[in-house]
Amino acid sequence: MAPLPACIACIDPRFADLVLFNAELELLAEGFRWLEGPVWFGDHHCLLFSDIPNNRTLRWSEQHGVTVFRQPSDFANGQTRDLQGRLIQCHHRSRCLTRLEHDGSSTVLVDRARGQRLNAPNDVVVKRDGSIWFSDPLYGLLNDYEGGRQTSEQPPALYRLDPDTGVAEAVATDFDGPNGLAFSPDERLLYVAESGAPGVAEPRQCIRRFVVGDDGFSLSGGEEFARISPGWADGFRVDEHGNLWCGAADGVHCLSPEGVLLGKVLVPHRVSNLCFGDRFGSRLFLCASTALYALFTNTRGATDR
Ligand code: MG
Repeated sequence: MAPLPACIACIDPRFADLVLFNAELELLAEGFRWLEGPVWFGDHHCLLFSDIPNNRTLRWSEQHGVTVFRQPSDFANGQTRDLQGRLIQCHHRSRCLTRLEHDGSSTVLVDRARGQRLNAPNDVVVKRDGSIWFSDPLYGLLNDYEGGRQTSEQPPALYRLDPDTGVAEAVATDFDGPNGLAFSPDERLLYVAESGAPGVAEPRQCIRRFVVGDDGFSLSGGEEFARISPGWADGFRVDEHGNLWCGAADGVHCLSPEGVLLGKVLVPHRVSNLCFGDRFGSRLFLCASTALYALFTNTRGATDR
């Protein structure tokens, strides 16, 4: 077998099938503050991502490099696309989710739940039935760096938003800090990062796994699936085989569907979040603190399009 690039740490032999011997980690751009929220737009062949402290949404393409997509972004964090390809963004400052319409206007999808204002929506994913699932931890309210200090009106929770009714129902409330989330390829499982209560000596930090009921929205389980160390779980994606690719303090950790650490992509900066993209959905884009990296892999994202 050909030696793997220096950026690849193979822990389980299965990882060698998911990476390429001749694909190195690429630095695409740097000079940002804190990157998050990558989402691939295959029809525009570009990546959108959030530079939260700089209050802007950026766009990267092979042709044009990095350009400003939207500034101010209202301190946008997590992003995804709905079934019509429209951009959905989580906003810290205005404590809401918005949808960018095809005519360029913006619609607030939700800013309240359980009779109170949301905290600071962090990350979001759309299920194949069109429902929008998002996390609402406290993090974005706690300091001025990521949107301005504000007062929380309710505990953290995980929500399912019906875009037809505009109603967000809490589907899990026993979270200290719900963060990144992703469904398994068959959408029978939902993984959610628990990043823990802020300011606590030993916060509960792990990825939790829920079973999605036959009704498509009720959750059971929620046990600890895996821990990310060093660091803690934030954003992640699932590939076509059901493996989880998770941001970590030392790069990216790849976990099997059983929760076994298969290997790592070593990155010089902490990776907060990532997504698959490019022509075949097999290139990983990494939001790594002040820099944007990419790596071609030998697998494909389950959902990025
Ligand atoms: Mg996050």
